Amino acid sequence: MSPAKKAKSDDFKVVFRGVRGSHPVSGKKFLKYGGYTSCYEVRAGKCIIIIDGGTGIIDLGNDMMQEYISSGKDLESREPLEAIILFTHVHVDHVQGLSFFSPMHLADSSFYLYGPDVHGYSFEEGISFAIEPPIFPISIHDMAAAKIFKSITSSESIFWSHRRGIPSVVNNFREIERKKQLTKSHPVRISFMKSYAHPNGGVYIYKIEYKKKTVVIATDTEGYVGGDSKLIKFSKNADLLIHDAGYTVEAYSDPSHCKQGYGHSTMPMAVDVAKKAGVKMLALVHHEPANDDKTVDKIQKEAQKLLPGSFAAYCGQEYII
Ligand SMILES: [Zn+2]
Ligand SMILES: [Zn+2]
Repeated sequence: MSPAKKAKSDDFKVVFRGVRGSHPVSGKKFLKYGGYTSCYEVRAGKCIIIIDGGTGIIDLGNDMMQEYISSGKDLESREPLEAIILFTHVHVDHVQGLSFFSPMHLADSSFYLYGPDVHGYSFEEGISFAIEPPIFPISIHDMAAAKIFKSITSSESIFWSHRRGIPSVVNNFREIERKKQLTKSHPVRISFMKSYAHPNGGVYIYKIEYKKKTVVIATDTEGYVGGDSKLIKFSKNADLLIHDAGYTVEAYSDPSHCKQGYGHSTMPMAVDVAKKAGVKMLALVHHEPANDDKTVDKIQKEAQKLLPGSFAAYCGQEYII
């Protein structure tokens, strides 16, 4: 449960690869929490599930390349990489690292990319805008790895098992028997809810379950008065809730540049959801570029007064669920 606990190969863990919102930052004031934008690596035993492709995915890709190289002495004997990549939405801070995700160039590897349709574009079209000329030298379709793109809706769930091929996407209401069977044979289950608390086409919030434990990733979402009821229900009793806390309370309500309606939360909004949902742990993410280490430290300290143990995540932090 504690971040310091040593990881085992069958663990369920999160690595916070990118916790910065809006745009990357660097410099002395940001050394502690880091500057990479949105990316969360979830390891469920041997299954790799990645949420978002912000600049944090670049370091993850480099580490995955090392795993690939050390798995065999030549191309024939190496173990191909395989991962699900889920996108919360396709705003630039959530896709801008994907073009530098090295494993996407491995011809023997497979990636299953899922996310929402937006503004009349399919998910595949939406994500393709991030990697195509003239803004990048090549298109995502020119990258050598096998890629399966799929638009998903909140009435579906994904079931997956390592080395069992393409994940199964099932309708929660029309395929009840199939769902029961997949629950027995596939250890990883992913469900998602659409939130309209982020402009301009909403955002997906993901729940990943493995061995009776649950993590919910709720980035780019703005709180409601009295708490986001839909999210509270969705994250009920989760072992870990990762929640947007981008704005300080002062910045959120600053009369000269009010951030209401921008689709991000303050720490008290995140704590409100965590308490009402009865989650076991809360991690605060999507730190605003304006929030330097001192400011995030202060947000964390205040959060711990309201919800002991909660923490502001930093880039590279590992948390065993
Ligand atoms: Zn964002
Ligand atoms: Zn966004």
